Amino acid sequence: MNQITLSSKDLQADVLRHLTSTLGKDQPNASVFDWRMALSFAIRDRIVAPWFASTRRTYAEDRKRVYYLSMEFLIGRLLEDATVNLGLREACVEVMANLGQDFRALVEDEPDAALGNGGLGRLAACFMESMATVGCPAYGYGIRYEHGLFRQRFVGGQQAEMPEDWLTHRYPWEFERPESAYTIGFKGHVETHDGREVWVPGETVQAQAYDTPVIGWQGKWANTLRLWSAKPTSLFDLERFNRGDYAAAAEPEALARTLSRVLYPDDTTYQGKELRLKQEFFMTSAALQDILRRFTANHADLRALPKHVAIQMNDTHPAIAGPELVRLLVDEHRLDFTEAVHIAQKCLGYTNHTLLPEALERWATFTFGTTLPRHMQIVERIDAWHKDEHHSRPHYVGIVKHHEVRMGELAFIMAHKVNGVSALHSDLVKQSLFPELNALHPGRIINQTNGVTPRRWLKMCNQPLAGLITRTIGEGWEDNLDRLRELEPAIETKAFRKDFMAAKRENKVATAAWIKAQCGITVSPDALFDVQIKRIHEYKRQLLNILQTVAHWNRLKENPGGNHVPRVKIFGGKSAPGYAVAKEIIHLINDVASVINADPVTGDLLKIVYPANYNVSMAEHLVPAADLSEQISTAGKEASGTGNMKFMINGAPTIGTLDGANVEILKEVGAENFFLFGMTTEEAWKRREDPDHSRKAIEASPALSLVLQQIAEGRFSAGQTDRYHGLVHRVWHHDYFLVASDFDAYDRAQQEVDRAFADTDRWAKMAALNTARSGFFSSDRTIRAYMKDIWDIPSAL
Ligand SMILES: *Cc1c(COP(=O)(O)O)cnc(C)c1O
Repeated sequence: MNQITLSSKDLQADVLRHLTSTLGKDQPNASVFDWRMALSFAIRDRIVAPWFASTRRTYAEDRKRVYYLSMEFLIGRLLEDATVNLGLREACVEVMANLGQDFRALVEDEPDAALGNGGLGRLAACFMESMATVGCPAYGYGIRYEHGLFRQRFVGGQQAEMPEDWLTHRYPWEFERPESAYTIGFKGHVETHDGREVWVPGETVQAQAYDTPVIGWQGKWANTLRLWSAKPTSLFDLERFNRGDYAAAAEPEALARTLSRVLYPDDTTYQGKELRLKQEFFMTSAALQDILRRFTANHADLRALPKHVAIQMNDTHPAIAGPELVRLLVDEHRLDFTEAVHIAQKCLGYTNHTLLPEALERWATFTFGTTLPRHMQIVERIDAWHKDEHHSRPHYVGIVKHHEVRMGELAFIMAHKVNGVSALHSDLVKQSLFPELNALHPGRIINQTNGVTPRRWLKMCNQPLAGLITRTIGEGWEDNLDRLRELEPAIETKAFRKDFMAAKRENKVATAAWIKAQCGITVSPDALFDVQIKRIHEYKRQLLNILQTVAHWNRLKENPGGNHVPRVKIFGGKSAPGYAVAKEIIHLINDVASVINADPVTGDLLKIVYPANYNVSMAEHLVPAADLSEQISTAGKEASGTGNMKFMINGAPTIGTLDGANVEILKEVGAENFFLFGMTTEEAWKRREDPDHSRKAIEASPALSLVLQQIAEGRFSAGQTDRYHGLVHRVWHHDYFLVASDFDAYDRAQQEVDRAFADTDRWAKMAALNTARSGFFSSDRTIRAYMKDIWDIPSAL
């Protein structure tokens, strides 16, 4: 018996054992859910040994660890990911077929763990997988939200939100850790005892750990994702209850229940909600207490902390880590304040994810001071100390200004490295976000361009292309993505280009069937699949896309018999529930889709599909089938993007602006393989100085003028002229994101795409070169750079 069948036999026995012993199900009565659980437990069993081995080695060799603090982890499904990294996918297919089950159906039965909004949370998930792959000892710390990001439905073309309940059924990947729990305080007051400050919280909850192992490529290393769940410190206040104060008696339980109940569904605007501040402190304090407990178990001198501990703050959401670490060191471990600040700085790194002013966290000093009175004191002391150290600091720079605590400044001052997430973005962080602090601390701001894990985003989600790559250049590209360059000689051959397009077509056929099932719309796999999937936001400019789609439709109708390239426009994405403008854009896309899809004149030449509830699993379906990647944000607004990287790896050329990591994609792939259009960041700044910019742009563009007129006249809203009155008015008069000014350039670039796509062989080369030159965008490269430039951690492998 060879290796494969031997391991398959064991696996099959384990699946059956879990079905009976763990789930208590008899085979004839087992549902798809039961089989999925049984298989998941059997796979989890195979993760535990490498997980323990990694932990033991880290302890034995007294290795430095990374602690990645993030309010979001957009994990998605784990079953197939784990089987791919363990090299067991084929075995699973075989074993489940033996048991009369379809492995694919089990994979699709798993709910997405959507503990994040978008790019920032997905980055954290890719980083966890890459840290395990490259052998970087690490913990991810976050919140185990009972409800992740809401589920999206369309009702009459409009977004409706429904609660997500990924935990309703058992989550097979986690281990509950009742023994790992910490007390988290809020409110109360500060007392002075023997000249020392003592915080007496007015409320407390318990943070209890749930651990999910994260296995790297080929199972060589595994790390832990530790998510905190809030539990009441005292189950019930019996004394108060007996006094008749029934509501107050239930307070501790109510606080605990709300703390880890929901993820805030806003990714680019921040609201000063006390509950959010409490969530941020809850996660951060639990993480830091856990870190210090682990350190002090084996080390006596807290001054050695930075030699063993690197803490990364994913955006400012965990920026309270600075003052909390200082508080723990000073108040609980009796260190001197300045020494504590220095230790904290050496441990902490801060990743900035946005320049959008509405996304920068600032807390009213009142909210901050009542919720965290001791931290308010420490923040003010840090601010005064920093001013003292840097007398040239301008008066308008600081952490506490205008009765607000600015979390960006706090994170910057408490970190030894601050990084942006693409070359362009990091330059803008220096130039326009923190120019004064950058001048005081030259070299602190560095760049770390984002990446995505090629295991999930190529090997797992695109088997036809992954298979072709392995047949062409052999194995080993999965954890050495630069090796994709070796495809280039093959790309010069007609045979490879044909195979490449055949792989793409296989994905498109599957996606056409998926679209039929999801949306009831028939699309041709021979059409150009043009995909824009991401959160709906004005700066991402889905509006530009849908307006150009209407212009394209108008041209088709003028000459329906012409030699046109058929297109399928695919949209996906959620809007924050309170973001009215984004919701209008969603409504417009759906309205335009119903009119155009029903037009017998254009028929298969143009279809618009917008499947509801975009998430990681939907991205895994759509990215491999894309011919064209839409990355059309207003220059200077998208920090990096990671969706753009997923498409490039999967052989979809980009139509895009010089924004975020598009700049680096263009550099890697070459201008001849990228459809560049639009203003640069500086041109955009300049353009906004003309108060009449949008009117001028609209009047200069007959195509755009017509489209706006059609929308205003109710062409897509059954004659209702008021439905999009506000939207059209904004394009004319408040076009901050420069939709009108970039319209013609975008329209021309789209026509260039049509011409290129019509030449199939030329297109094949462009698309394949996108894959071949995408190696830089592996998150393994990003993680290795963090290890070297920020964390000072060697690989354990
Ligand atoms: C990759 C990804 C994102 C980020 O996409 P961008 O285009 O970079 O904004 C958001 N949501 C999901 C589900 C993703 O997989």
